Amino acid sequence: MLDRASFPRDKVCAEYLSPQASRILAAMGAMDEVDASGPARLTGMRVRAPNGCEIHGSFVATHGYRAFRDRGIAVRRSVLDAILVQRAQSAGARLIERARVTDVVRDGSGRTCGVSVLDADGATQELLAPLVIGADGLRSVVGRRLGLTRVSRIPRRVAFVAHFRNVPGVSEVGEMHVERDGYVGIADVGHGITNVALVVTARAARDSAGDPDALLDEWLASHPHLAARFAASERIEPVRTTGPFASSTRRAWAPGAALVGDAADFFDPFTGEGVYSALRGGELLAPFAAEAALADAWASDRVLAEYERARREEFRGKWLVEKLIAGTVAVPALINHAARALSRRKEMADLLVGVAGDFVPPSQVLRVGYFARLLLFGV
Ligand SMILES: Cc1cc2nc3c(=O)[nH]c(=O)nc-3n(C[C@H](O)[C@H](O)[C@H](O)COP(=O)(O)OP(=O)(O)OC[C@H]3O[C@@H](n4cnc5c(N)ncnc54)[C@H](O)[C@@H]3O)c2cc1C
Repeated sequence: MLDRASFPRDKVCAEYLSPQASRILAAMGAMDEVDASGPARLTGMRVRAPNGCEIHGSFVATHGYRAFRDRGIAVRRSVLDAILVQRAQSAGARLIERARVTDVVRDGSGRTCGVSVLDADGATQELLAPLVIGADGLRSVVGRRLGLTRVSRIPRRVAFVAHFRNVPGVSEVGEMHVERDGYVGIADVGHGITNVALVVTARAARDSAGDPDALLDEWLASHPHLAARFAASERIEPVRTTGPFASSTRRAWAPGAALVGDAADFFDPFTGEGVYSALRGGELLAPFAAEAALADAWASDRVLAEYERARREEFRGKWLVEKLIAGTVAVPALINHAARALSRRKEMADLLVGVAGDFVPPSQVLRVGYFARLLLFGV
């Protein structure tokens, strides 16, 4: 494993994990350590629309679906990612930190056979491998060099994230506040710390004149229902930013290489389960990667094409739901309408939160009946 960072490291993220992510953490043998680190445990999500209507969805509900755990967790990425790195190391992986991958190396036939790495001393070397896995996040250098990843034009958004202390009213329910000029997620991440993650358009971010602290503080202060809460709280670190983040991937493999996690797909973080998708993607890729790494070129390509099919099968429904949610959130009239409907029908909100939480099949909300009720009850 090569990483340009050294661990523990932070990652700009709202730090909420869907209830079903615990299944994979348990399978990796990481759950006990995550539990011991003192994460927050969330019972559901609350979404406030620009018109003030609120949607409350609970993980434990009457729809009959149960997650691996009844609660989602929220844990600082500096803690979670260090635990994951340790699990990989104790399973036999070797980690080289402060090693920046700058390109892929190809053989005479154009097939990927390794990567170029710039190490901490500024020296460049080539490392060869039977299979390169690009798990290098949103701006994946592996994906870009292989021509698999494209930066999309819309929606171009930028995130501003910081940890706060003493935010009044923070509870066991994750919060999402959608406004006309962006949305903000607020969640307890344990130890009295609250994660605040604001997403605005790239244009609004440009207008911040390069002062992310001021942008986040002023945005919170400009929305009366949040202003009072944040006036009493303390931001404990400088605001970190990431973006613009709109990218898409043609496919998640090329001869000799596979992509996983954000490198393979990145969605608007509103539904907040990129970590689950990255973990599930890794779980899905593992057997294909093991087989492809040992196979000859022809057989390896066939195996990686099967990985692509498995990914599509696994994520297709969720991708569609995420796109529909992101589209709804981007149009105030739509999110207002949906919030009116879902605030009247808790069972529909529970289903949607269950789909976002990765334990209710997406087909449950992709039915004509669900959309018809959404239209009807929002009037
Ligand atoms: C504002 C925001 C809020 C979010 N909130 C949530 C949330 O609440 N819940 C959730 O589940 N998801 C959330 N996400 C999404 C989530 O952060 C990602 O989906 C998740 O981190 C993907 O994991 P990954 O391992 O693919 O990539 P990353 O976590 O980005 O890890 C990539 C790793 O690759 C390394 N790397 C990158 N480039 C190179 C290189 N050239 N050479 C060597 N190493 C390299 C990096 O140092 C990093 O360690 C959010 C995202 C954003 C932007």
